[in-house]
Amino acid sequence: MSYKSEHERSIQDPDSFWGEQAKRIHWEKPFKQVLDYSNPPFAKWFEGGLTNICFNAVDRHLADRADQIALVAVSTETNQEKTFTFKELYEEVNRMAAIYQANGVKKGDRVLIYMPMVAQACFAMLACVRIGAIHSVVFGGFASHSLASRIDDAQPKMIVTTEAGARGGKAVPYKPLLDEAINLATCKPEKVLIVNRGLIEFTTVAGRDLDYAAERQKHLHDLVPIEWVDATHTSYILYTSGTTGKPKGVQRDTGGYAVALASSMDHIFCAKPGETFFCTSDIGWVVGHGYIIYGPLIHGMATIMYEGTPLRPDAGIWWELVEKYKVSVMFSAPTAARVLKKQDPAFLTKYDLSSLRALFLAGEPLDEPTATWIHGAINKPIVDNYWQTETGWPTLAIQRGVEVMPHKFGSPGLPSFGFNMKLLDDANAEELGPNKKGVIVIEGPLPPGCMQTVWGDDKRFISTYWETIPGKTVYSTFDWGIKDDDGYFFILGRTDDVINVAGHRLGTREIEESISGHANVSEVAVVGIEDKLKGQAAIAFVIPKDASNTATLEAECMKTVDSTLGAIARPGRVYIVTALPKTRSGKIVRRALQAVAEGRDPGDISTMEDQTVLAQIRGVIEQRPPT
Ligand code: AMP
Repeated sequence: MSYKSEHERSIQDPDSFWGEQAKRIHWEKPFKQVLDYSNPPFAKWFEGGLTNICFNAVDRHLADRADQIALVAVSTETNQEKTFTFKELYEEVNRMAAIYQANGVKKGDRVLIYMPMVAQACFAMLACVRIGAIHSVVFGGFASHSLASRIDDAQPKMIVTTEAGARGGKAVPYKPLLDEAINLATCKPEKVLIVNRGLIEFTTVAGRDLDYAAERQKHLHDLVPIEWVDATHTSYILYTSGTTGKPKGVQRDTGGYAVALASSMDHIFCAKPGETFFCTSDIGWVVGHGYIIYGPLIHGMATIMYEGTPLRPDAGIWWELVEKYKVSVMFSAPTAARVLKKQDPAFLTKYDLSSLRALFLAGEPLDEPTATWIHGAINKPIVDNYWQTETGWPTLAIQRGVEVMPHKFGSPGLPSFGFNMKLLDDANAEELGPNKKGVIVIEGPLPPGCMQTVWGDDKRFISTYWETIPGKTVYSTFDWGIKDDDGYFFILGRTDDVINVAGHRLGTREIEESISGHANVSEVAVVGIEDKLKGQAAIAFVIPKDASNTATLEAECMKTVDSTLGAIARPGRVYIVTALPKTRSGKIVRRALQAVAEGRDPGDISTMEDQTVLAQIRGVIEQRPPT
């Protein structure tokens, strides 16, 4: 079997290809049709089939793996380490599902999960899909304003949280931020379930707030039957940034997602049931959904949830876990590798890494020096792979489980099965041949596991993703790319206002909206500039209303971003300027700002005024360069 012939089959005959892949999961009732694409671009996979992700991830393994470890929850912040066998995981998930049901959560209801990397977050997600409720996990680094907009959009019946997380040895409050978000939100949840870790003091709201430990005790022996749902039933919503300030709720199905993950475990990750998978991402991101929780568990593997930094207690911690739990597949982000690169490589070789077969890196461009360094340090294949919150699983990769094709530095590889990827000229929508730069698009239907639509907004799904290339209805990835003679794709950055900070996707518009909320801000522009460690960093340019009162404006703008969006969105610098470069129609030329901040030539600037403005801005930057 070759990659090429299998990929061709997956595009030409999706019924045959995905029909076979569907056998990887349990179907309570077989589907009637593999693909219904009668209403493009909405693809319905495995319609009529009844299944359940929780059953596939947990219950299904009880016969053969009840006493095998399913979940390892490690916190180097609280110095706790706990393992759960599949049987124990099953019991915890049942208890959580019973708590949901006792509090009125039913099939189709939303449950928002705002939690750090604790085992209960895994129970909370699995318990949702067990009863057909829809989870929306919000990354713990997001603050009240971001959280409030997600609450209003998802309208959760219940929110599950902890009172705090921890980072670098310090408690990070969650519950107070959540309370503020609920105050800001128009739609109020009926119940808030709090996992109290004893890290900070917090207040509770009578009648609304529930203590997890007490609730768990009430439902210690409860078993909650599986809710068999249609393959097209929504399993979760995950918000992501785009060109507007309003986050989009990426909506994912059940059957297609489970099949896609199961096949990726084999085709891409070459992972085997009974082994241990270690993904260092966070459950708040799509990688965490797929490869901390669902993918490994569906595949009958143990998965590690890790709370902490890669450097505490020392830079050997991840590799110590690899040795201890005999990790066979590891998945992280280039930023983490760059963080480790600053440490003594002896930390990486101190442990027995013989169980580890490969390290997968995704989420941002993998630069050659980092790839070479980490490869040299651990002496394992380093596998770049490219995907998006929207696609749900790797879109470009090497299908190592089918054919080990050569890796090329700087390229995440070739299209995964079912992804019909093309490069189009953004000016005339013509398909481009090798070695020509264009927009990476995917021809419909999107394969199983990709987003179904934007939550509650089919029109936005179409207008955002399918109508950006004039005259062609294709899914735009919003990434520039190039393809070489062998069909390998290379990613050349986003076509929109999305930036990528340490693998976290942020919309510059969101940051601008947050800063413009400050009383002394008249105009603001945010751009992403190159950062040696994080890939990109946000930089803001602010025109104050009152130029005589700017001594603390930078710090205040940063604080505004911290408190509305969260510290991950905080710009590295806020430059106070008197004017911004603009087009004749009044649009800020962010491209020129970015070039100047990166010390590059801004290229063609339309007016003399802009040249003066940019010269002034260059002067401001030179006084205090970004890094
Ligand atoms: P997210 O939805 O947060 O996963 O971000 C998706 C975006 O991250 C993509 O559109 C790319 O711009 C970028 N990205 C993800 N993986 C890679 C990769 N392997 N190489 C280059 N860019 C990547």
